Order: sequence, then C-alpha cells, then structure tokens
Amino acid sequence: MWELSDFGEKMSRDAGILQLMDDLGRAMAGEKPVAMFGGGNPAQIPKMTNVFQGELTNLINDPEKLAALFGNYDTPQGNARFIDSFVSYINNTYDWGISAENVAITPGSQSGFFMLFNLLAGQKRGAKRKILLPIVPEYIGYADQTIEPDSFVSVRPSIEKVGQHEFKYKINFSELVVDDSIAALALSRPTNPTGNVVTNDELHKLTALAQTHDIPLIVDNAYGLPFPGVIARHATPHFDDHTVLSFSLSKLGLPSARVGIFVGPKGLMQALSSANAIVSLASPSYGQYITERLFSSGEITDLAKKHIQPFYADRATAARSILHQVLPPDLPWRLHTYEGSYFFWLWCEDAKKTSKQLYEYLKKRGVIVVPGEYFFPGQSVDNWDHARQCIRINFARPNNELTQGADILAEALRWMYTR
Ligand code: PLP
Repeated sequence: MWELSDFGEKMSRDAGILQLMDDLGRAMAGEKPVAMFGGGNPAQIPKMTNVFQGELTNLINDPEKLAALFGNYDTPQGNARFIDSFVSYINNTYDWGISAENVAITPGSQSGFFMLFNLLAGQKRGAKRKILLPIVPEYIGYADQTIEPDSFVSVRPSIEKVGQHEFKYKINFSELVVDDSIAALALSRPTNPTGNVVTNDELHKLTALAQTHDIPLIVDNAYGLPFPGVIARHATPHFDDHTVLSFSLSKLGLPSARVGIFVGPKGLMQALSSANAIVSLASPSYGQYITERLFSSGEITDLAKKHIQPFYADRATAARSILHQVLPPDLPWRLHTYEGSYFFWLWCEDAKKTSKQLYEYLKKRGVIVVPGEYFFPGQSVDNWDHARQCIRINFARPNNELTQGADILAEALRWMYTR
C-alpha cells in the first residue's frame, strides 16, 4: 500500500486550483453550460490565431528549425535565441539594460512560481521564512504552492466604496509589516481575480520596502505591459535590482505552449533555471519558436494593441453594461473597479449566503463562476465575512452568454439575500 507524504497530501487535497480546472474541464467536455464565467482560459482571438498559424507555417517550412524543435532539449534556462530576442525586445521597449542572465524560462509561469516561491520560502538557519502578499485577494494559483505549509502571510486591503455598485481595494500599508521572517513580496498586477491594478505610487512604496529589507519584490505581470497590455493607462511597469517580473505567453492566446518568462536578479534567475533542470530538464520549446520573431521584430506590442486590448476592452464594456442592467439595483452588490486582467470581481456585501453556496446554486443552473474563498492565501476566511461574499467572473464571453448568465446571476443574487 502507498501512503502520501505530508507534502503529497497537501498537493492532493481540495486545492482551489483543482476545483477550477476540474469545473472547466468538465464544462468543456460535457453538456454545454449556459454561461462559462469560470474559466481561466484566455479568449481565442482569430486574428492572433492567424498570426501564430503563420509563424508555425514558417517553422514547418524550415527543416533545420523544425528538426531542432522536435529533436532538442533547450537548456534549462530556455531557448537561447528566444531569450536573446526577448532581452532585446524588453531593452528596446523599456531601456532596462537587462541581459540574458536576467532571464529564466519556465514551463508556464505557474510552475515558475512554484519553483521561485520554494526557492525563497521555507526553513533558513532554523527559522521559517515566508512570502508576503501585500494585498489579497490574490491569484488562486499561488495558494497551495509552497512545500512548507503556511508559508504565505498576507494583508487585508482597505476597501474604498465608489458610488452605489462599485469598489476598489488599496494596499493597507499601516498593516504591512516586513521583518526578517519575510523572504519576498509578491503580487499580481493587474490582479487576477479582482481586475485591480496596484497604483504606481503603491508599487513605489513596495519597491522601497524591498530595497530596505533587501528582498525581492515579485510582480506577476501575466496581463500587464507590454504584452498583452490589458491594464489601465495609469499603470507603468517598474524594474530594478530587487524586482522579479514574470511574463506569460498564455494570455497572448498560447496557454498550451506553457511558456513563462521571468526577469530578475542574475543569481536568482540562475537558481530558477537550476530548479527547472531538476523538475523538468527543460521548458517546452514550441511557444518559444513560434513567438521568437514576434519579439525580435517588436511586432508583439502592436499585435497586442491591435487585436488583444480592443477585444478585452469591448467585452469588459459589454459585460459591465449587461450586469448593471440586470443585477437588482436595490441590493448592495458591488463590482470591483476594472483596471485590467480578464476578470470581474463581484462583492455581495452583507449577503445571507456564502459565495460557495452561490457557486453551487449557479452551477446547478448552468452558470460556472469561481467562489471567492480561494483567493485569500495567508488569511483565515472563516474569520472574515468579506472573503466569503465575492465571486470571480470571466467576462470575455459572447453577448448571448453574458445576457443569459447575467439573468441567472440576478436571480441568484435575490436568493443570496434571503435567509
Ligand atoms: N499568474 C496569473 C495572475 C494568472 O492569471 C495565471 C493564469 O491564469 C498565471 C500566473 C499562470 O499562467 P501560465 O502558467 O499559463 O503562464
């Protein structure tokens, strides 16, 4: 008989990410749901698919490249040509003066975060060090990633109510304590699940904290600049010797390519490549081959501006307007201010039911959302009503699905507020 280790049990128990992927997979395979608001899949934008198809065709017509793609492991750090293209792209765009040694490619940024968090958090000189999330809610995918349990600490945000049906989270700096037990700061910007973008001012304060305490500030830039660039105009990216920035090809429309790109201090990126060698030998090559020319030519920025950003702006506007039309105006629901990412975050203040109950209720009616409870790593959600009153909605759906889903959501909200 086999028995799972403590780590094995942690990896296989009811992880939020499992439920999300499971519901997604089932919904895709089985009877079609009325509204698929749960997914983490980026939308399939035909113009982008055409671009990737064109690059793939060029590859197929180049026997030498094709043989290398099929037949070679790249180095654990990534494909050398891709890394060079990426470095020149970033330096041309931002003049940060990075070199190839500042870069590590991972099999998706998800696994990159797993390695990075565990490279930093855990036992050190007999004491435990943790990852500090300066604001929650935060990306569901971080929650179960550390090998040592309870390795995240997080700070509840301050909540600014905006008008009748909107709100925005701010970092609560008065509660943010960095001491020797903190190995790194981490946040996603824009934030999945809320659509929040930590302001430049907030980011500068975090940068100063990272510098003062000589720890990395990890900024997950999956939806940010320069690609796909689904982020509010007020935000500018930041990089310095204490920053680790992550990028992902997934949100361009290539989630199956599994390419995460980390840019950070040379020693730390070397450690990440080394961990990648141990876990995976090398990262998948095909996404790096397909996009290499798009980075070396800089075309990726224009493609994102032309095809990706307008697509999500259009869907966000349509979804917002439909939700405002149909959700009951007399109930105290609020949508987080939308500043980026592919999601809306709905808060049902003072609801009589929890968001998990809402999730089950909606699922029975063919509307898939993600309950908010999972997005609060480092917090005990049982002690905080707010954490049980929110859901994540993927808004990038066709109009008919938005309308039908919103009608059912409106009815479910009425139910949320009855005893
Ligand atoms: N970070 C954020 C904020 C995300 O939303 C996601 C995916 O949804 C990831 C990281 C992981 O992306 P990937 O592993 O596909 O690069």
